[in-house]
Amino acid sequence: MHARDRFRRRILPATLTLPLGVALGALAPGGAPSAAEAYDLVIQRGHVVDPKNRLDAVRDVAVKDGKIAKVARRIDAAAAKKTVDASGEYVTPGLIDLHAHLFPGPEDAYRNGWSGVAPDGFTFRSGVTTAVDAGSSGAKSFDLFKKNVIDRSQTRVLAFLNIVGEGMAGGKYEQDLKDMDPGRAAAKAKEHPGTIVGIKTAHYEGPEWTAVENSVKAGDEAGIPVMVDFGANRPERPLKTLLTEKLRPGDIYSHAYSGLRGELGQDGRLNPGMRKGRDRGVLFDVGHGGGSFAWDVAVPAMKEGFAPDTISTDLHITSMNAGMKDQSNIMSKFMAVGMPLKDVVNASTWAPAKAIDRPDLGHLSVGAPADIAVFTLDKGRFGFTDSFGYRIDGKRKLSTELTVRAGKVVWDLNGKAAQKWTPDPSRLTGRTDEH
Ligand SMILES: [Zn+2]
Repeated sequence: MHARDRFRRRILPATLTLPLGVALGALAPGGAPSAAEAYDLVIQRGHVVDPKNRLDAVRDVAVKDGKIAKVARRIDAAAAKKTVDASGEYVTPGLIDLHAHLFPGPEDAYRNGWSGVAPDGFTFRSGVTTAVDAGSSGAKSFDLFKKNVIDRSQTRVLAFLNIVGEGMAGGKYEQDLKDMDPGRAAAKAKEHPGTIVGIKTAHYEGPEWTAVENSVKAGDEAGIPVMVDFGANRPERPLKTLLTEKLRPGDIYSHAYSGLRGELGQDGRLNPGMRKGRDRGVLFDVGHGGGSFAWDVAVPAMKEGFAPDTISTDLHITSMNAGMKDQSNIMSKFMAVGMPLKDVVNASTWAPAKAIDRPDLGHLSVGAPADIAVFTLDKGRFGFTDSFGYRIDGKRKLSTELTVRAGKVVWDLNGKAAQKWTPDPSRLTGRTDEH
Protein backbone atom coordinates (compact mmCIF):
# COMPACT_ATOMS: atom_id res chain seq x y z
CA MET A 1 0.00 0.00 0.00
CA HIS A 2 2.81 2.34 0.79
CA ALA A 3 4.21 1.91 -2.70
CA ARG A 4 0.85 2.79 -4.15
CA ASP A 5 0.64 5.89 -1.93
CA ARG A 6 3.96 7.09 -3.21
CA PHE A 7 2.95 6.41 -6.76
CA ARG A 8 -0.17 8.49 -6.39
CA ARG A 9 1.71 11.37 -4.83
CA ARG A 10 4.54 11.56 -7.31
CA ILE A 11 3.32 10.51 -10.69
CA LEU A 12 -0.23 11.70 -10.95
CA PRO A 13 -1.12 15.34 -11.54
CA ALA A 14 -2.78 16.77 -8.46
CA THR A 15 -6.13 17.18 -10.15
CA LEU A 16 -6.23 13.50 -11.04
CA THR A 17 -5.06 12.18 -7.69
CA LEU A 18 -8.39 11.73 -6.04
CA PRO A 19 -10.47 9.96 -8.70
CA LEU A 20 -7.59 7.78 -9.86
CA GLY A 21 -6.55 7.15 -6.29
CA VAL A 22 -10.00 5.88 -5.50
CA ALA A 23 -9.90 3.65 -8.57
CA LEU A 24 -6.48 2.30 -7.60
CA GLY A 25 -7.61 1.77 -4.02
CA ALA A 26 -10.40 -0.43 -5.28
CA LEU A 27 -7.95 -2.78 -6.96
CA ALA A 28 -6.52 -5.67 -4.98
CA PRO A 29 -2.72 -6.15 -5.21
CA GLY A 30 -3.16 -8.60 -8.10
CA GLY A 31 -5.14 -6.02 -10.04
CA ALA A 32 -8.48 -7.77 -9.61
CA PRO A 33 -11.43 -5.76 -8.29
CA SER A 34 -11.87 -6.06 -4.55
CA ALA A 35 -14.44 -5.05 -1.98
CA ALA A 36 -11.67 -3.81 0.33
CA GLU A 37 -12.51 -0.55 2.03
CA ALA A 38 -9.96 2.24 2.01
CA TYR A 39 -9.50 2.43 5.77
CA ASP A 40 -7.07 4.96 7.21
CA LEU A 41 -5.59 2.39 9.58
CA VAL A 42 -6.07 -1.30 10.32
CA ILE A 43 -4.57 -2.79 13.49
CA GLN A 44 -4.27 -6.46 12.70
CA ARG A 45 -4.28 -9.66 14.74
CA GLY A 46 -4.11 -8.03 18.19
CA HIS A 47 -5.86 -9.47 21.22
CA VAL A 48 -8.65 -6.94 21.72
CA VAL A 49 -9.82 -6.29 25.28
CA ASP A 50 -12.91 -4.09 25.08
CA PRO A 51 -14.82 -4.55 28.35
CA LYS A 52 -17.85 -2.49 27.34
CA ASN A 53 -18.47 -4.78 24.38
CA ARG A 54 -17.47 -7.89 26.37
CA LEU A 55 -14.80 -8.56 23.79
CA ASP A 56 -11.65 -10.47 24.83
CA ALA A 57 -10.34 -12.15 21.66
CA VAL A 58 -8.05 -11.73 18.66
CA ARG A 59 -9.55 -9.20 16.24
CA ASP A 60 -8.65 -6.71 13.54
CA VAL A 61 -9.65 -3.09 14.21
CA ALA A 62 -10.22 -0.66 11.33
CA VAL A 63 -10.27 3.13 11.59
CA LYS A 64 -11.65 5.68 9.17
CA ASP A 65 -12.17 9.44 9.48
CA GLY A 66 -11.12 9.39 13.13
CA LYS A 67 -13.72 6.80 14.12
CA ILE A 68 -13.76 3.06 14.71
CA ALA A 69 -15.03 1.67 11.38
CA LYS A 70 -15.01 -2.08 11.98
CA VAL A 71 -13.91 -4.73 14.48
CA ALA A 72 -13.85 -8.27 13.09
CA ARG A 73 -11.92 -11.54 13.02
CA ARG A 74 -10.46 -10.57 9.67
CA ILE A 75 -10.68 -7.24 7.88
CA ASP A 76 -9.55 -6.87 4.29
CA ALA A 77 -6.80 -4.27 4.60
CA ALA A 78 -5.61 -4.36 0.99
CA ALA A 79 -6.76 -0.79 0.41
CA ALA A 80 -5.87 0.55 3.86
CA LYS A 81 -3.53 3.56 4.02
CA LYS A 82 -1.70 2.02 6.96
CA THR A 83 -1.60 -1.33 8.68
CA VAL A 84 -0.09 -2.24 12.02
CA ASP A 85 0.71 -5.81 13.01
CA ALA A 86 -0.30 -6.30 16.66
CA SER A 87 0.22 -10.06 16.77
CA GLY A 88 0.89 -11.17 20.33
CA GLU A 89 -0.11 -7.77 21.70
CA TYR A 90 -3.15 -6.35 23.44
CA VAL A 91 -5.39 -3.77 21.82
CA THR A 92 -7.60 -1.73 24.14
CA PRO A 93 -9.68 1.43 23.98
CA GLY A 94 -7.51 4.50 24.63
CA LEU A 95 -7.09 4.76 28.38
CA ILE A 96 -8.91 7.32 30.50
CA ASP A 97 -6.91 8.70 33.42
CA LEU A 98 -9.57 9.92 35.84
CA HIS A 99 -7.25 11.90 38.11
CA ALA A 100 -4.36 14.00 36.81
CA HIS A 101 -2.93 17.51 37.22
CA LEU A 102 -2.57 19.16 33.85
CA PHE A 103 -2.53 22.92 34.43
CA PRO A 104 1.17 23.84 34.30
CA GLY A 105 2.30 27.43 34.52
CA PRO A 106 4.66 29.80 36.24
CA GLU A 107 2.94 29.95 39.64
CA ASP A 108 3.20 27.62 42.61
CA ALA A 109 1.12 24.50 43.28
CA TYR A 110 -1.26 23.03 40.65
CA ARG A 111 -3.29 25.98 39.36
CA ASN A 112 -1.28 27.45 36.51
CA GLY A 113 1.61 26.09 38.55
CA TRP A 114 4.89 24.31 38.45
CA SER A 115 3.51 21.03 39.86
CA GLY A 116 1.23 20.39 36.88
CA VAL A 117 2.34 18.82 33.60
CA ALA A 118 1.41 19.42 29.96
CA PRO A 119 -0.85 16.49 29.02
CA ASP A 120 0.54 15.44 25.61
CA GLY A 121 4.03 15.04 27.06
CA PHE A 122 2.93 12.28 29.44
CA THR A 123 -0.35 10.76 28.29
CA PHE A 124 0.20 9.06 24.92
CA ARG A 125 3.35 7.21 25.99
CA SER A 126 1.27 5.29 28.51
CA GLY A 127 -1.76 4.67 26.29
CA VAL A 128 -3.86 7.48 27.76
CA THR A 129 -6.01 9.41 25.27
CA THR A 130 -8.37 11.11 27.73
CA ALA A 131 -7.18 12.68 30.98
CA VAL A 132 -9.37 14.31 33.56
CA ASP A 133 -7.80 17.11 35.53
CA ALA A 134 -8.80 16.66 39.15
CA GLY A 135 -9.47 20.11 40.51
CA SER A 136 -6.38 22.05 39.47
CA SER A 137 -8.71 24.79 38.28
CA GLY A 138 -11.74 26.34 39.95
CA ALA A 139 -14.51 28.60 38.68
CA LYS A 140 -12.15 31.62 38.68
CA SER A 141 -9.29 29.88 36.88
CA PHE A 142 -11.05 27.43 34.54
CA ASP A 143 -11.14 29.85 31.59
CA LEU A 144 -7.36 30.16 31.66
CA PHE A 145 -7.04 26.37 31.98
CA LYS A 146 -9.29 25.90 28.97
CA LYS A 147 -7.39 28.44 26.87
CA ASN A 148 -3.90 27.26 27.86
CA VAL A 149 -4.42 23.51 28.05
CA ILE A 150 -7.76 22.03 27.01
CA ASP A 151 -7.97 23.88 23.70
CA ARG A 152 -4.29 23.30 22.84
CA SER A 153 -3.87 19.61 23.69
CA GLN A 154 -4.24 16.64 21.42
CA THR A 155 -5.11 14.63 24.53
CA ARG A 156 -8.81 14.94 25.29
CA VAL A 157 -8.63 16.95 28.52
CA LEU A 158 -11.69 17.07 30.79
CA ALA A 159 -12.02 18.50 34.27
CA PHE A 160 -13.33 18.11 37.75
CA LEU A 161 -13.81 21.73 38.76
CA ASN A 162 -12.44 22.58 42.18
CA ILE A 163 -15.10 23.81 44.61
CA VAL A 164 -12.50 26.42 45.59
CA GLY A 165 -12.88 29.31 43.13
CA GLU A 166 -9.15 29.78 42.74
CA GLY A 167 -8.52 26.05 42.31
CA MET A 168 -5.41 24.31 43.69
CA ALA A 169 -3.46 27.47 44.26
CA GLY A 170 -1.91 26.43 47.56
CA GLY A 171 -2.64 26.33 51.27
CA LYS A 172 -4.27 29.63 52.09
CA TYR A 173 -6.57 29.47 49.06
CA GLU A 174 -7.59 25.87 49.58
CA GLN A 175 -8.51 26.39 53.24
CA ASP A 176 -10.68 29.43 52.53
CA LEU A 177 -14.28 28.37 53.20
CA LYS A 178 -15.55 31.66 51.76
CA ASP A 179 -14.18 30.72 48.32
CA MET A 180 -16.17 27.45 48.15
CA ASP A 181 -19.30 28.79 46.49
CA PRO A 182 -21.48 25.95 45.13
CA GLY A 183 -23.63 28.22 42.93
CA ARG A 184 -20.63 29.69 41.16
CA ALA A 185 -19.04 26.26 40.60
CA ALA A 186 -22.30 24.80 39.27
CA ALA A 187 -22.77 27.76 36.92
CA LYS A 188 -19.28 27.34 35.48
CA ALA A 189 -19.84 23.59 35.07
CA LYS A 190 -23.09 24.24 33.21
CA GLU A 191 -21.22 26.51 30.79
CA HIS A 192 -19.06 23.52 29.77
CA PRO A 193 -21.19 20.37 29.79
CA GLY A 194 -19.21 17.25 28.91
CA THR A 195 -15.91 19.04 29.55
CA ILE A 196 -16.41 19.90 33.21
CA VAL A 197 -17.51 16.41 34.19
CA GLY A 198 -17.50 16.74 37.96
CA ILE A 199 -16.67 18.80 41.06
CA LYS A 200 -13.55 18.22 43.15
CA THR A 201 -12.86 18.93 46.78
CA ALA A 202 -9.28 18.44 47.96
CA HIS A 203 -6.73 19.14 50.64
CA TYR A 204 -9.20 20.63 53.14
CA GLU A 205 -7.79 20.40 56.67
CA GLY A 206 -10.48 21.91 58.88
CA PRO A 207 -13.02 20.02 61.02
CA GLU A 208 -16.08 21.24 59.06
CA TRP A 209 -17.99 19.35 56.39
CA THR A 210 -18.36 22.55 54.33
CA ALA A 211 -15.92 21.57 51.56
CA VAL A 212 -17.70 18.26 50.98
CA GLU A 213 -21.21 19.60 51.43
CA ASN A 214 -20.74 22.54 49.09
CA SER A 215 -19.19 20.23 46.50
CA VAL A 216 -22.23 17.95 46.66
CA LYS A 217 -24.53 21.00 46.39
CA ALA A 218 -22.68 22.10 43.26
CA GLY A 219 -22.79 18.54 41.91
CA ASP A 220 -26.54 18.38 42.53
CA GLU A 221 -27.13 21.69 40.80
CA ALA A 222 -25.04 20.81 37.75
CA GLY A 223 -26.02 17.13 37.67
CA ILE A 224 -22.45 15.85 37.89
CA PRO A 225 -20.47 13.68 40.34
CA VAL A 226 -18.10 14.85 43.06
CA MET A 227 -14.56 13.53 43.49
CA VAL A 228 -13.17 13.71 47.00
CA ASP A 229 -9.62 14.03 48.24
CA PHE A 230 -10.59 13.95 51.91
CA GLY A 231 -7.70 16.14 53.08
CA ALA A 232 -6.60 15.91 56.70
CA ASN A 233 -7.93 13.03 58.79
CA ARG A 234 -10.24 14.69 61.35
CA PRO A 235 -12.24 12.86 64.02
CA GLU A 236 -15.02 15.44 63.54
CA ARG A 237 -15.63 14.16 60.01
CA PRO A 238 -14.97 10.41 59.88
CA LEU A 239 -14.47 8.52 56.61
CA LYS A 240 -17.43 6.25 57.32
CA THR A 241 -19.80 9.23 57.52
CA LEU A 242 -18.43 10.57 54.25
CA LEU A 243 -18.97 7.28 52.43
CA THR A 244 -22.29 6.28 53.96
CA GLU A 245 -24.05 9.62 54.43
CA LYS A 246 -22.44 12.60 52.73
CA LEU A 247 -21.59 11.29 49.26
CA ARG A 248 -24.19 10.28 46.71
CA PRO A 249 -24.16 7.11 44.60
CA GLY A 250 -21.83 7.85 41.69
CA ASP A 251 -19.59 10.17 43.69
CA ILE A 252 -15.93 9.18 43.70
CA TYR A 253 -13.62 8.59 46.64
CA SER A 254 -10.05 9.07 45.33
CA HIS A 255 -6.81 8.03 47.03
CA ALA A 256 -8.72 4.93 48.16
CA TYR A 257 -5.54 3.00 49.07
CA SER A 258 -3.68 5.83 50.79
CA GLY A 259 -4.33 4.71 54.36
CA LEU A 260 -4.23 8.37 55.36
CA ARG A 261 -7.86 8.69 56.45
CA GLY A 262 -8.61 5.38 58.08
CA GLU A 263 -9.26 3.29 54.94
CA LEU A 264 -7.69 0.38 56.82
CA GLY A 265 -8.51 -0.22 60.49
CA GLN A 266 -6.06 -0.99 63.28
CA ASP A 267 -7.17 -4.63 62.98
CA GLY A 268 -5.70 -4.77 59.49
CA ARG A 269 -9.14 -5.00 57.91
CA LEU A 270 -10.84 -2.50 55.65
CA ASN A 271 -12.88 0.22 57.30
CA PRO A 272 -16.45 -1.18 57.08
CA GLY A 273 -17.49 2.19 55.69
CA MET A 274 -15.57 1.40 52.49
CA ARG A 275 -17.75 -1.65 51.74
CA LYS A 276 -20.92 0.15 52.83
CA GLY A 277 -20.01 3.06 50.57
CA ARG A 278 -19.45 0.73 47.64
CA ASP A 279 -22.73 -1.06 48.32
CA ARG A 280 -24.59 2.23 48.00
CA GLY A 281 -22.82 3.18 44.77
CA VAL A 282 -19.84 5.32 45.82
CA LEU A 283 -16.93 4.67 43.43
CA PHE A 284 -13.37 4.02 44.62
CA ASP A 285 -10.53 5.54 42.60
CA VAL A 286 -6.80 4.89 42.95
CA GLY A 287 -5.38 8.46 42.55
CA HIS A 288 -1.90 7.05 43.21
CA GLY A 289 0.06 10.30 43.29
CA GLY A 290 3.20 10.96 45.25
CA GLY A 291 1.78 10.09 48.67
CA SER A 292 -1.51 8.27 48.21
CA PHE A 293 -0.82 4.62 47.43
CA ALA A 294 0.29 2.19 50.14
CA TRP A 295 0.86 -1.51 49.66
CA ASP A 296 -0.03 -1.68 53.38
CA VAL A 297 -3.60 -0.86 52.32
CA ALA A 298 -3.79 -2.20 48.76
CA VAL A 299 -2.64 -5.75 49.58
CA PRO A 300 -5.14 -6.39 52.42
CA ALA A 301 -7.85 -4.63 50.38
CA MET A 302 -7.24 -6.88 47.38
CA LYS A 303 -7.29 -9.92 49.69
CA GLU A 304 -10.73 -8.78 50.84
CA GLY A 305 -11.77 -8.47 47.19
CA PHE A 306 -11.81 -4.68 47.25
CA ALA A 307 -10.37 -3.84 43.82
CA PRO A 308 -10.60 -0.26 42.55
CA ASP A 309 -13.52 0.84 40.40
CA THR A 310 -11.22 3.18 38.50
CA ILE A 311 -7.44 3.29 38.14
CA SER A 312 -5.87 6.73 37.92
CA THR A 313 -2.49 8.34 38.30
CA ASP A 314 -2.79 11.63 40.18
CA LEU A 315 -0.12 12.59 37.66
CA HIS A 316 2.04 15.56 38.59
CA ILE A 317 5.67 16.55 38.47
CA THR A 318 6.57 14.56 41.61
CA SER A 319 4.45 11.41 41.31
CA MET A 320 5.58 10.67 37.75
CA ASN A 321 9.21 10.44 38.87
CA ALA A 322 8.44 8.35 41.97
CA GLY A 323 6.57 5.07 42.49
CA MET A 324 3.55 6.07 40.43
CA LYS A 325 5.23 6.57 37.00
CA ASP A 326 2.21 6.30 34.70
CA GLN A 327 -1.20 4.74 34.10
CA SER A 328 0.07 1.50 32.55
CA ASN A 329 2.49 1.03 35.47
CA ILE A 330 -0.39 1.24 37.95
CA MET A 331 -2.38 -1.25 35.87
CA SER A 332 0.63 -3.60 36.06
CA LYS A 333 0.81 -3.03 39.83
CA PHE A 334 -2.74 -4.18 40.33
CA MET A 335 -2.08 -7.19 38.10
CA ALA A 336 0.85 -8.03 40.40
CA VAL A 337 -1.61 -8.33 43.31
CA GLY A 338 -4.15 -10.41 41.47
CA MET A 339 -6.37 -8.13 39.40
CA PRO A 340 -6.98 -9.71 35.97
CA LEU A 341 -5.86 -7.88 32.82
CA LYS A 342 -9.41 -7.39 31.57
CA ASP A 343 -10.34 -5.80 34.91
CA VAL A 344 -7.43 -3.33 34.94
CA VAL A 345 -8.41 -2.41 31.37
CA ASN A 346 -12.03 -1.94 32.41
CA ALA A 347 -10.93 0.24 35.34
CA SER A 348 -8.96 2.41 32.89
CA THR A 349 -11.52 2.64 30.07
CA TRP A 350 -15.22 1.90 30.38
CA ALA A 351 -15.51 2.31 34.16
CA PRO A 352 -14.09 5.87 34.20
CA ALA A 353 -16.14 6.77 31.08
CA LYS A 354 -19.30 5.77 32.94
CA ALA A 355 -18.15 7.56 36.10
CA ILE A 356 -18.00 10.88 34.25
CA ASP A 357 -21.10 10.19 32.15
CA ARG A 358 -19.19 10.10 28.87
CA PRO A 359 -20.54 6.83 27.43
CA ASP A 360 -19.17 7.85 24.02
CA LEU A 361 -15.67 7.07 25.37
CA GLY A 362 -13.76 4.06 26.67
CA HIS A 363 -14.75 1.44 24.10
CA LEU A 364 -14.20 0.35 20.50
CA SER A 365 -17.77 0.31 19.22
CA VAL A 366 -18.21 1.18 15.56
CA GLY A 367 -18.64 4.96 15.31
CA ALA A 368 -16.78 5.67 18.57
CA PRO A 369 -13.78 8.02 18.48
CA ALA A 370 -10.75 6.04 17.26
CA ASP A 371 -8.84 6.31 20.54
CA ILE A 372 -6.86 3.08 20.81
CA ALA A 373 -3.91 1.72 22.77
CA VAL A 374 -1.69 -1.25 21.90
CA PHE A 375 0.34 -2.90 24.67
CA THR A 376 2.91 -5.62 24.95
CA LEU A 377 2.60 -7.68 28.11
CA ASP A 378 6.29 -8.08 28.89
CA LYS A 379 7.39 -11.05 30.98
CA GLY A 380 10.35 -10.84 33.34
CA ARG A 381 11.18 -9.43 36.76
CA PHE A 382 9.65 -6.08 37.54
CA GLY A 383 9.49 -4.02 40.71
CA PHE A 384 6.47 -1.94 41.70
CA THR A 385 7.01 0.74 44.32
CA ASP A 386 4.29 2.38 46.38
CA SER A 387 4.32 5.99 47.60
CA PHE A 388 6.16 5.07 50.79
CA GLY A 389 9.23 3.35 49.37
CA TYR A 390 8.04 -0.27 49.52
CA ARG A 391 8.30 -2.61 46.53
CA ILE A 392 6.35 -5.62 45.37
CA ASP A 393 7.84 -7.78 42.63
CA GLY A 394 5.86 -8.86 39.61
CA LYS A 395 6.39 -10.98 36.52
CA ARG A 396 4.30 -9.09 33.99
CA LYS A 397 4.31 -5.48 32.89
CA LEU A 398 2.31 -3.59 30.31
CA SER A 399 4.35 -1.48 27.93
CA THR A 400 2.71 0.93 25.48
CA GLU A 401 3.60 0.11 21.89
CA LEU A 402 1.19 2.36 20.06
CA THR A 403 -1.39 5.00 20.87
CA VAL A 404 -3.99 6.31 18.46
CA ARG A 405 -5.99 9.46 19.21
CA ALA A 406 -8.91 10.34 16.91
CA GLY A 407 -7.50 8.00 14.28
CA LYS A 408 -4.02 9.46 14.32
CA VAL A 409 -0.94 7.60 15.57
CA VAL A 410 0.38 9.76 18.43
CA TRP A 411 2.82 7.29 20.03
CA ASP A 412 4.70 4.52 18.28
CA LEU A 413 7.43 3.01 20.45
CA ASN A 414 8.94 0.74 17.81
CA GLY A 415 7.83 2.45 14.64
CA LYS A 416 5.17 -0.15 13.89
CA ALA A 417 3.16 2.33 11.85
CA ALA A 418 6.22 3.72 10.08
CA GLN A 419 7.45 2.63 6.70
CA LYS A 420 10.57 0.47 6.68
CA TRP A 421 13.59 2.45 5.47
CA THR A 422 15.26 1.53 2.20
CA PRO A 423 17.78 3.68 0.30
CA ASP A 424 16.13 6.24 -2.00
CA PRO A 425 18.07 9.52 -2.53
CA SER A 426 15.12 11.07 -4.38
CA ARG A 427 13.31 11.42 -1.06
CA LEU A 428 15.70 14.15 0.05
CA THR A 429 14.70 16.59 -2.64
CA GLY A 430 12.07 19.04 -1.58
CA ARG A 431 12.19 18.05 2.12
CA THR A 432 11.63 20.90 4.56
CA ASP A 433 12.24 21.17 8.25
CA GLU A 434 8.93 20.49 9.98
CA HIS A 435 10.55 19.91 13.39
ZN1 LIG B 1 -4.70 14.99 42.85
